[in-house]
Amino acid sequence: MEKGLLIILSGPSGVGKGTVRKKILEKGDLNLFYSVSMTTRGMRPGEENGREYYFVSKEEFQKNIESGNLLEWAEFVGNYYGTPKDKVEEMREQGKDVLLEIEVKGTMTVLSKCPDAISIFLVPPSLEALESRIRGRSTETEEVIQQRLAEAKSELPMQSKYGHVVVNDDLDRAADEIREIILSARK
Ligand code: ADP
Ligand code: 5GP
Repeated sequence: MEKGLLIILSGPSGVGKGTVRKKILEKGDLNLFYSVSMTTRGMRPGEENGREYYFVSKEEFQKNIESGNLLEWAEFVGNYYGTPKDKVEEMREQGKDVLLEIEVKGTMTVLSKCPDAISIFLVPPSLEALESRIRGRSTETEEVIQQRLAEAKSELPMQSKYGHVVVNDDLDRAADEIREIILSARK
């Protein structure tokens, strides 16, 4: 059996990665497994342990780093985020494509380990749109919003390191473009 693809969806906080990902997976016609990450950040209202993330303490996260359980990990605005390795490998071995939704530093680690991964950077139509999306989500304090917007400004130039850049202007259009990227990589 052919090994599944590794697909990275990245882009600044608030650009719409989670929303686009749900849209892509909605139809259920792609042979795609979403890799749930591990994080030390607090749970947002409506989130569930094991669905959005595995929510762990800093100590537990550190243990996972030391045990070599993470394919990659990074610190983002004061919290740690990482990709559990075993599940990614298991799914790919079973022929399933695996989707990682991760930030820029983690992407660089994955690309150095797996140069054939398909990398997609989602960009906002403008910085104003990014700010209004992150505010509209109402999940972060003003301080964290400012930190995430500052991080976005340093992440955006990194789009040149990605195989594909997709503008998240219209949700359906952006999701279709990403579906096409995945489908053509499958061929
Ligand atoms: P991320 O996962 O990149 O942090 P989210 O998926 O949480 O971003 O989206 C941030 C906010 O932007 C959400 O409120 C979402 O509904 C909104 N959003 C996502 N895509 C679009 C779009 N194409 N047009 C307008 N708003 C969008
Ligand atoms: P949030 O707190 O908004 O859920 O995520 C913050 C940032 O961390 C986002 O850019 C998100 O894509 C990224 N992220 C989520 N999971 C991982 C992961 O496993 N590894 C890395 N490097 N980044 C992640």
